[in-house]
Amino acid sequence: MTKKIAVLPGDGIGPEIVAEALKVLECLRTDFGLAVETEHAHIGGAAYDVHGTPFPAETLELCRASDSILLGAVGGPKWEGLDYSVRPERGLLGLRSELALFANLRPAILYPQLAAASTLRPEVVSNLDLMIVRELTGGIYFGQPRGRRINTQGEREGFNTLVYSESEIRRIAHTAFQIAQKRNKRLCSVDKANVLECTELWREVVVEVSAQYPEVELSHMYVDNAAMQLVRNPKQFDVMLTDNMFGDILSDCAAMLTGSIGMLPSASLNQDGKGMYEPIHGSAPDIAGKGIANPIATILSLAMLLRYSFDDAASAERVEKAVIKALDQNLRTADIHAEGAHKVGTAAMGDAIVAALRATTH
Ligand code: NAD
Repeated sequence: MTKKIAVLPGDGIGPEIVAEALKVLECLRTDFGLAVETEHAHIGGAAYDVHGTPFPAETLELCRASDSILLGAVGGPKWEGLDYSVRPERGLLGLRSELALFANLRPAILYPQLAAASTLRPEVVSNLDLMIVRELTGGIYFGQPRGRRINTQGEREGFNTLVYSESEIRRIAHTAFQIAQKRNKRLCSVDKANVLECTELWREVVVEVSAQYPEVELSHMYVDNAAMQLVRNPKQFDVMLTDNMFGDILSDCAAMLTGSIGMLPSASLNQDGKGMYEPIHGSAPDIAGKGIANPIATILSLAMLLRYSFDDAASAERVEKAVIKALDQNLRTADIHAEGAHKVGTAAMGDAIVAALRATTH
């Protein structure tokens, strides 16, 4: 059956990098018989300019009717003065909550060809391949009550609530165990169970869920230690499971181990496996329109889409191998360029990946 992808290029470099991912998709369609169709819609600032809202009803409708979503990036200085309710970022938040995308998958992969791009020593990070699974729609970012008030001493105070129900913990734990099953079968759950009751429950529920995945080795780590271990010896981890706030912080830290924001994809999934796939970087307004952005994070986001929403590991691997082949050919966009490498622009990198992909048929 033909699957449908909603394509939301967004703002800044979004349209440039998404165009390269679509070249890859087209090659999979024509040369490998992938049954897929695409339809475009606006999101973010681009949507505001056309519809007066960053998250138009027709965009939501298309996303609901599609099997998955490929997104570029949103935001930029042009829309910074707008009221928060119509800022481009509201488009993203709207999609996450409307589609209940509770599981955020952020791989941190460092290809050996790029080991020099990390600020850590090559032997610590070379061949790093870890996956952070972050709960995305609960926890302290959403808990009630929240706000600011004047306390009884007449002082200003701010307050937020860290709350997770066991069903919220259980569903993200299942996602993480299932991902670990498909990888090296090791899962480290990160919490602060020594201080926070909420994460004590987190640990308890994760242990309960683990009974259904006897082949996955489960460990637990306090978040402060996890932050330390991530920079001390990141290769000890396979899959890390964390709540919303810890995951926000740890996943950025893990991303930076690889030193290259233009290389890392992400996925946000709901209960049915529908997902929104996007690079972890933003719209890079400083380089938008110059044809120099790195399209690899978006192309690898497409690979994640194939793996997690279409359950098509073979096509995902083909794309990932084509990316590695382009890197092996010593091609580099400006953000990952080092002396001796051949510097290329966005389209040339996309073309090289398509050529590498096509070559695998012969
Ligand atoms: P950014 O990720 O857009 O850019 C940070 C730096 O990395 C810039 O120097 C940029 O040129 C570079 N960079 C980013 N992606 C690159 C790529 N593919 N190739 C080469 N270089 C790349 O972060 P920022 O500058 O803080 O934010 C810019 C805008 O993006 C803001 O409006 C912000 O709100 C938005 N943003 C959106 C998302 C998203 O859509 N998911 C995420 C983060 C930021």
